[in-house]
Amino acid sequence: EARPAAGAATSAIGLRQVSKVFGSGDQRFTAVDRATVEIARNEFFTLLGPSGCGKTTLLRMIAGFEYPTAGEILLEGVDVAGLPPYARPINTVFQNYALFPHMTVAENIGFGLKMLGKPKAEVDERVAAMLKLVRMEALAGRRTSQISGGQQQRVALARALAPRPKVLLLDEPLSALDYKLRKEMQIELKRLQHETGITFIFVTHDQEEALTMSDRIAVMSAGHILQVGTPRDIYDSPADRFVADFIGETNVLAGRTGAVSGDLASVALAAGGELFAVVPAGFSRTGEVTVVVRPEHARVVASGEPATLSGTLEHAVYFGTDTHFHVRLADGSTFIVRRQNRPGEVLGVEVGDTVGVVVDPRAARLLGN
Ligand code: ATP
Repeated sequence: EARPAAGAATSAIGLRQVSKVFGSGDQRFTAVDRATVEIARNEFFTLLGPSGCGKTTLLRMIAGFEYPTAGEILLEGVDVAGLPPYARPINTVFQNYALFPHMTVAENIGFGLKMLGKPKAEVDERVAAMLKLVRMEALAGRRTSQISGGQQQRVALARALAPRPKVLLLDEPLSALDYKLRKEMQIELKRLQHETGITFIFVTHDQEEALTMSDRIAVMSAGHILQVGTPRDIYDSPADRFVADFIGETNVLAGRTGAVSGDLASVALAAGGELFAVVPAGFSRTGEVTVVVRPEHARVVASGEPATLSGTLEHAVYFGTDTHFHVRLADGSTFIVRRQNRPGEVLGVEVGDTVGVVVDPRAARLLGN
């Protein structure tokens, strides 16, 4: 019998240098490239990245629908290579739910358990518990072709949770729902994960969804995992330019480092002016660097006031909750400042004005790559 590998016993899923190559010869395509990550038990873990970055392929390998070209996938420390999908204690909720339209809600939820040969009493008891968990008791006898999209989503979740999997994989499960329902289901999914204690691996290309729901996020691009961290880590300390751009809006400034003191480096910006930027741990490169500043971490001030940068106010875009100021800097780049709107507040500057931009202390960060 396979034994857990040393050091991996506490993680639900371990990916070790997992790659997937499709096709051969000229048609070879690396969909996942040496993905390595440990996903903890009871974690809400999200794979986030743009379309085609390899999220679904990674999920399908964990489920067993695809076989890795190289690398190992461990479930609670044990290599799952020899296990077909049905033998893995892992279940998947698909984007289109894949419910049986001619069956009732209760029959759909109990289907997997019945297939596993569970006694009727046990199936009934489990179905009742799942109906309660997803708050669908009232519609137990309804056919799934006769319920709403949000209700279908709940049934799909109940069906996937019914056999008590150790890990639940969710492939863009909310993408078919409208905005309001999606927000509701986000909270619902968090609750289900919390109440069941099951490890959730959630796939999305929606950065806001990833930030609001996850314990940790893996950001993927072109088959690579670029960064793994808590939503706050990823937002506040993006590892590279792709992550900084993909997660929320960000200003990217070119510059040259001067003196370093503690974790701050002075940087002379290509757009003029100088600021102190937080240096990521282990960063040693000097010379040409890239600095990122979130739009909500800077202010626009009238020209003449002390400021980090100066430029021309090109646009002031009203968004209800906040206003976005687009400032054209001396090197031709645009710096965006986001300001929360408050009742009765006046802009103080006009489009076309020369303005200053004040960057908050510790808001600028040097990128590691
Ligand atoms: P999306 O969000 O659009 O679903 P994704 O990040 O989930 O994208 P994947 O579906 O994992 O991306 O696909 C990753 C890449 O691998 C894509 O370029 C895709 O075209 C390619 N790919 C996926 N499956 C196959 C296959 N069976 N044969 C060849 N190429 C494939």
